Amino acid sequence: MKDFIEMINKSNNIVFFGGAGVSVASGIPDFRSADGIFSLNRSISPEEILSHGFFYEHPEEFYDFYKNHMIYQDAKPNKAHEVLAKLEKTGKLGAVITQNIDGLHQAAGSKKVYELHGSVKNNSCTKCGKSYSLDYIMSSPGVPLCSCGAIIKPDVVLYGEQLDTYTLEMSSAYATAADMLIVGGTSLNVYPAASLVNNYLGSRLVIINKTLTPRDMSADIVIHGKIEEVFAEVEKELGI
Ligand code: NAD
Repeated sequence: MKDFIEMINKSNNIVFFGGAGVSVASGIPDFRSADGIFSLNRSISPEEILSHGFFYEHPEEFYDFYKNHMIYQDAKPNKAHEVLAKLEKTGKLGAVITQNIDGLHQAAGSKKVYELHGSVKNNSCTKCGKSYSLDYIMSSPGVPLCSCGAIIKPDVVLYGEQLDTYTLEMSSAYATAADMLIVGGTSLNVYPAASLVNNYLGSRLVIINKTLTPRDMSADIVIHGKIEEVFAEVEKELGI
């Protein structure tokens, strides 16, 4: 922790790259922990349900799973989101890059946020492109339909879909230019998002995760712990 704080003190263009573990303390389960979404005992895997093909072939089953397991409308940002927003405000942090789709970084006050996998807050008609709110999705029984009659799709990147080019390019550029990259709450298992770490070639790569990640060996500091607790300590030590 001491080395981590010292590194933050020395850095002025920190980039944070996070995943589902960042929002676990906000009550949103991750995918791969023991009690994560992938541990649900279903005949079809969540990866298959959350795929492009499944959405168009079985929209009812897709929305049943999506509304029940992917949406947490009452979730509030936790210490990790809050302290990252403070680090941006103080000018230390340049951007947050997230694999999360829950919008909690923005809710905590972060301004520069790149959502690699989109957001549940944005939804659009598959035919005419009209936009819809999350409230509309949640209050529609079954499959939400547009006023034109076509199916509405959440603006999230499903398995089998491409990441948005602009978001990926901006994220890569920020990770390349960073003077410190903090990677947190991600198993680094989902590609191409996980390969973002390769853009950072500096000597201040920090990984904060509850469990081992495939990149621990190449990090300069590894903290195995709860990210919300680590950032609570950062807040205290930096007095922000
Ligand atoms: P993942 O489930 O594969 O990995 C999460 C990692 O976080 C695990 O290694 C786990 O040990 C760790 N973790 C859990 N709680 C933690 C905590 N309190 N502090 C520190 N680490 C903690 O998630 P991923 O790598 O982000 O990839 C899964 C995909 O699932 C992403 O693409 C994301 O879009 C999606 N997803 C998003 C949300 C969300 O928006 N909140 C939730 C679940 C899944």
